[in-house]
Amino acid sequence: MIDYLRLSQLDDVLEMLWAEGPGILMLAGGTDILVRPQPFAGARILLDISRVEQLRDIAVDPADDCLVIGAAATHEEVAWHPQVSRRAQLLAQACRLVGSAQIRNLGTLGGNLGNASPAADSVPALACLDAEVVLSGRNKQRRLPVLEFFTGPGSSVRQPDEVISSLRLPRQRGRQVSFFLKAGQRRGMCCSKASVAFRARSHSDGRLSGVRVALGAVAPTVVRVPEAEQVLEGRRIEPRLIDEAAAACSRAARPIDDIRSTAEYRKAVVGALLTDGLFRLGDKMKQRRRPRRRRPR
Ligand SMILES: Cc1cc2nc3c(=O)[nH]c(=O)nc-3n(C[C@H](O)[C@H](O)[C@H](O)COP(=O)(O)OP(=O)(O)OC[C@H]3O[C@@H](n4cnc5c(N)ncnc54)[C@H](O)[C@@H]3O)c2cc1C
Repeated sequence: MIDYLRLSQLDDVLEMLWAEGPGILMLAGGTDILVRPQPFAGARILLDISRVEQLRDIAVDPADDCLVIGAAATHEEVAWHPQVSRRAQLLAQACRLVGSAQIRNLGTLGGNLGNASPAADSVPALACLDAEVVLSGRNKQRRLPVLEFFTGPGSSVRQPDEVISSLRLPRQRGRQVSFFLKAGQRRGMCCSKASVAFRARSHSDGRLSGVRVALGAVAPTVVRVPEAEQVLEGRRIEPRLIDEAAAACSRAARPIDDIRSTAEYRKAVVGALLTDGLFRLGDKMKQRRRPRRRRPR
């Protein structure tokens, strides 16, 4: 038997975690927990945090101009929030590709991280946006870069008395370009076999800077690919560089065979996803740079 408890104040959640930590299983949208073969294994209390308003806010912190997204915000709320669209388009794109409308309306950003799956779609996007995870406990709080949160498939540095309270995204300067692409069994309602997130600042002459590339579902945790980033840093997108960056992604991938895919396919498809995304982005950027013809008077 497990006790179910729903709290609406963050302070009460933190008190509860402090008092009962290891016996508690937090429930947000339930879209990961409730499909497990033994959903509540080892837990005494199922603590529902989905109604805690302090965990659902999405707003800009005037102190440091970071966009702060509450961990219990759903994928649908994140995907269509005006501040997210304006400042973190890449995260909006990733959240729009999660599962189906039903899953996006229940599943939360905090749950996507809490589950610690290497296939979590929000994580490559958050890594490319230099996001920090905020972990809160009774009388304590710590922040860490999003990829430092994960220690392996299904495991993280979160202590039993801590909740993921928010994600903090610093403001990105200049004109930003980005894409998130995933390969799955079908277009909707499925987890990624492999995914690629890309973000950079684009300059008026077509050069890129601050390049970030992250891969999902091809290693024990989501990984950045510094080798691919360096290939593109300070350069314009061109076919030879796309090939080099794609090859770097395939080399960086350390996938496994599992029910969703084979390691061989995953290794090949991450390169193909980056190639596809960069070709499309390169075309878009060229069109933008082309001088507009004046209409004859
Ligand atoms: C049919 C289907 C399709 C899916 N498709 C995708 C997909 O395309 N992409 C994708 O990434 N995922 C997908 N998922 C997985 C799932 O929907 C997401 O991972 C979702 O974000 C989980 O959020 P949740 O709120 O439902 O988590 P829950 O199930 O409520 O929780 C998941 C885990 O995180 C912990 N947790 C939740 N919130 C917090 C918090 N604030 N602090 C600390 N720990 C917390 C819980 O204790 C639990 O261990 C799919 C799932 C299903 C069933």
